[in-house]
Amino acid sequence: MAERTSQPCAPGVPIEALRAELDREAEGRFLFELAAELYPICRSITGAGLRETLDRIGRHVPLERHSLPSGTRVFDWTIPPEWNIRGAWIRGPHGERVVDFADHNLHVVSYSEPVRARMSLDSLRPHLHSLPERPRWIPYRTSYYQRSWGFCLEHERAARLPDGEYEVCIDASLEDGLLDWAELVLPGETPEEVLFSCHACHPSLANDNLSSLAVATSLARLLPRARRRFTYRFLFVPGTIGAIAWLSQNAERALRIRHGMVLACLGDPGPFTWKRSRRGDHAIDRAVEFALARSGRKWEARPFTPYGYDERQYGSPGFDLPVGRLTRTPNGEYPEYHTSADDLSLIGPEALVDSLDMLLRILEIVEGDRRYQNTQPFCEPQLGRRGLYGALGGLPDPGARSLAMLWVLNLSDGAHSLLDIATRAELPFELVRETAELLEAHELLRPA
Ligand code: ZN
Repeated sequence: MAERTSQPCAPGVPIEALRAELDREAEGRFLFELAAELYPICRSITGAGLRETLDRIGRHVPLERHSLPSGTRVFDWTIPPEWNIRGAWIRGPHGERVVDFADHNLHVVSYSEPVRARMSLDSLRPHLHSLPERPRWIPYRTSYYQRSWGFCLEHERAARLPDGEYEVCIDASLEDGLLDWAELVLPGETPEEVLFSCHACHPSLANDNLSSLAVATSLARLLPRARRRFTYRFLFVPGTIGAIAWLSQNAERALRIRHGMVLACLGDPGPFTWKRSRRGDHAIDRAVEFALARSGRKWEARPFTPYGYDERQYGSPGFDLPVGRLTRTPNGEYPEYHTSADDLSLIGPEALVDSLDMLLRILEIVEGDRRYQNTQPFCEPQLGRRGLYGALGGLPDPGARSLAMLWVLNLSDGAHSLLDIATRAELPFELVRETAELLEAHELLRPA
């Protein structure tokens, strides 16, 4: 049974300690096994598959469940009818099954309306989707907001279909129901929030986005033990409409978000990619880029664009929240994206746990970053008299510690944060933070 986490903030351990104690092998196994467990479920933006996914995540972390009924207006959108599917197939002229949903849930266009008909190959063709350039892969297609039906199949199979009469069946329903999502809130010392948001609506696709559902679940499982200055909110929402629904119900609460990120595509071995918040220079942008630069991993930062995942909603002009997006290889930039080849072989325990490790590194900065005021700003304080200068026995690099002390004292004018100082001094954040704590203990700094 998962540990209950709704209690008020406990003292907890620093995030650094959580990361140091992480059993990477065991956590990597947990991450991959969770993705593998969720992989076969046919998810969509509504319906039983989405609910089952949230139920299964909820076995590991105590999720709050929310829903809105079909027909509810959420800003300029309307919650669509709920889609559920029981089965679907195409039978060929000789009675053979050409395509069967039971073999792969990507075989049916998500949100296909129910159909039961006989038709010629020519009439069927417009309803078939395949990838000529990737003849063995099944594409992923959706039609959420326009009523239609269709099948997706390997091009090599689509190209070989004989002429004749076909029988098609999609045993699905589009009825008034619910749009579901799940949240987890871990209270901190302040009501100011750190947001993690992931889309939970894709069917059997591993990197996009079971990887991030797993990584977010793992992070949400670890953070209850952490000392938390911020309140943490995890959102598991159907893409686009789920984020819009959440924002429509939480417009006031959203203003408490100080740092946020959309998580996606975190299981492939590609380099980390940070897509900056709309404004591009929020503390979260600087924290992520600093952590990535210091991590020794390959990475890239890109400017915000109004295309992609739910950063589009958090970064819409009415909200303009400090929310960026962390992926490894971004959407659309790996060949397997939105095809049946985005399967469990594309993701691995090492990449998943490495993504988790990266998030913890970022949170170390987010949690530890603050501004101080030097209490002795007129010339340097006499550090030697206080036993602070050159008297730091046992430290591996007292030179760096002394340098950190001088930088922290010089830039602690209430305007520069510890991250600003670490960036400017090109020193490890942890060293700068520990140095500030030491100087605070000697009353040379006070919180600004
Ligand atoms: Zn996608």
